[in-house]
Amino acid sequence: MKSILFALSLITSLSIFAQKEDSLQIRKLFDAALVQGHAYDNLRSLCKDVGARLSGSPEAEKAVEWAKELLESYQFDTVWLMPVKVPHWVRGDIEKAGVNGVSMSIKTLGGSVSSNGKIEAEVIEVHNFDELAELGEKLIKGKIVFFNRGFDKRLISTGDAYGGCVNQRWGGASEAAKLGAVGVFVRSLSHKKDNHAHTGSMGYEEGVTKIPSVALSVEDAEMLSDVLKKMPKSIAYLNVNSQTFPDKNSYNVIAEITGSVNPDKIITFGGHLDSWDVGEGAHDDGAGVVHSIEALRVIETTGYQPRYTLRCVLFMNEENGNNGGKTYAAVAKEKGEIHIAALESDAGGFVPRGFTMDGTPEQLKKMQSWESLLEPYKLHIFKAGWGGVDIKPLKGQNIPLIGLRPDDQRYFDHHHSDTDVFENVHQRELELGAASFAAMIYLIDKYGLGGDLKPLKKE
Ligand SMILES: [Zn+2]
Repeated sequence: MKSILFALSLITSLSIFAQKEDSLQIRKLFDAALVQGHAYDNLRSLCKDVGARLSGSPEAEKAVEWAKELLESYQFDTVWLMPVKVPHWVRGDIEKAGVNGVSMSIKTLGGSVSSNGKIEAEVIEVHNFDELAELGEKLIKGKIVFFNRGFDKRLISTGDAYGGCVNQRWGGASEAAKLGAVGVFVRSLSHKKDNHAHTGSMGYEEGVTKIPSVALSVEDAEMLSDVLKKMPKSIAYLNVNSQTFPDKNSYNVIAEITGSVNPDKIITFGGHLDSWDVGEGAHDDGAGVVHSIEALRVIETTGYQPRYTLRCVLFMNEENGNNGGKTYAAVAKEKGEIHIAALESDAGGFVPRGFTMDGTPEQLKKMQSWESLLEPYKLHIFKAGWGGVDIKPLKGQNIPLIGLRPDDQRYFDHHHSDTDVFENVHQRELELGAASFAAMIYLIDKYGLGGDLKPLKKE
């Protein structure tokens, strides 16, 4: 009996000791990111020295060089480039639209074809694909279709509101073209009523005529809707000259600290290096890029020796193809790598609230067991949910996919628009995000997340 009690008290004091050690290490990570952090200056440099960096553009190439040089300057164990083929779409120098002679603020959607000169046609407003189908070919043929379904204000998560609208942007052109439409206007995917249109990717269904598709600013979408209420047969015009070129070669940029106990087992984490070609890609996803670099840096500067290999991956081409994420997973499978977990920061540089996980219930429980260690940093979301676009291709074979969750109320104010610039990122919020990311990586490195993790295999 005595020896059982002794054993129990030993276990308790060992776990108290471990808790204390973890608290101290997490404190060190936050101090390093908050007191002498590099995230904010790195973001400034990415935004101002490189700028917007759509896949295939000279700026995206510059971003690869920028990231490689920066990672090399930190003297991590390895830095290398992973080749990725990327699409090459270029916005034209003409982007004009208007109604009844009044011009509107637009952005051509990524992937859209040119209008091949000015299109003039009657414009007809709809809110969803059912409404469009009900109107039918007779009413749609020869017209410009205006998709005007806005964010649902009742939804607390702006990501949910975005998810409820994004099919208009992605598939609106083909749905309208099936009924003979000649062009598409889509209300920008944002709560914010201003005059900046928000771009984003769109696609064409095979075998359907490709018609041009552009986003209208929220202000102009509301203006157009008012005009149509008063004058239902209003004539709109649209003139854009975007182009698609052959695919180009680009890269994922990768840096590692080699694991001291299990060098062959990997914790991968990152954000995406490419951005849309407007603004500076500051929140999307410059923040995720500098969060990831900073996480690796502060883990190293605090003197922590990771057990597993920590791999920071700056993915190319999340925005219009996800070829960086797909290539990364394909290479990991080819090599039969073992991944302990994959984490992504691609939800902006706002104040961090916690983490969501796409994993097993046991893995989620394990992550939730660390809540008390992270609660002092005001991290309180530890629940099942989205990991990230770039890490999604790793799904399967029990790899937990984890997304950093910053506050999302202002994210879509700037998303894919001219206002996604450095000045709209708050230094302290950005730094807290980097530290939170580092803390989660540390805890996963120390305790793992469980799951029967085997070498990845090709399907
Ligand atoms: Zn993004």
